[in-house]
Amino acid sequence: ENVPEKIDYVFKVVVIGDSAVGKTQMLSRFTKNEFCFDSKSTIGVEFQTRTVTIKNKVIKAQIWDTAGQERYRAVTSAYYRGALGAMLVYDITKRQSFDHVARWVEELRAHADNSIVIILIGNKADLVDLRAVPTEDAVEFAEDQGLFFAETSALTGDNVEKAFFKLLEEIYGVI
Ligand code: GDP
Ligand code: MG
Repeated sequence: ENVPEKIDYVFKVVVIGDSAVGKTQMLSRFTKNEFCFDSKSTIGVEFQTRTVTIKNKVIKAQIWDTAGQERYRAVTSAYYRGALGAMLVYDITKRQSFDHVARWVEELRAHADNSIVIILIGNKADLVDLRAVPTEDAVEFAEDQGLFFAETSALTGDNVEKAFFKLLEEIYGVI
């Protein structure tokens, strides 16, 4: 990707969800097209950026990663401040990570802007034999809550690009 001369918008996006669902790898896949097999759990809040073009506008996505603060209510409101989008990730092989999604939505409603665009992500879709969350359950939840939804694999890269672009395009549509 060429380094653009001029950035039209900076979009802050937060990635949330239980520990070990693949948040850091989603970010790594989207911003560096990498998957890190020996990744340690994240320490300290950090963000990564990638600049993309959407509808002829140059958009710098500033994507924030939680830092082992995934315990209930441990993510501070500073993390959510100014966020235009959220990627809420669960692991399709861990039912509990999906059961906690409702809590994460509550967190967003409590701390983030009302207009925040949310995409629900069922990650690790490559682990077909270990699936514990049927796609239909997630589709139903997402429809109920007004969230976008996709299943991804940060490992293979499947759907990751598409999911981030969907989120960024929807943000562009509401700003
Ligand atoms: P985080 O705690 O949510 O940031 O999760 P990580 O990104 O650190 O990933 C947790 C574990 O899941 C690591 O061992 C990753 O290698 C693994 N992982 C992440 N994404 C995928 C995926 O799409 N498929 C598979 N099979 N493993 C994944
Ligand atoms: Mg992490």
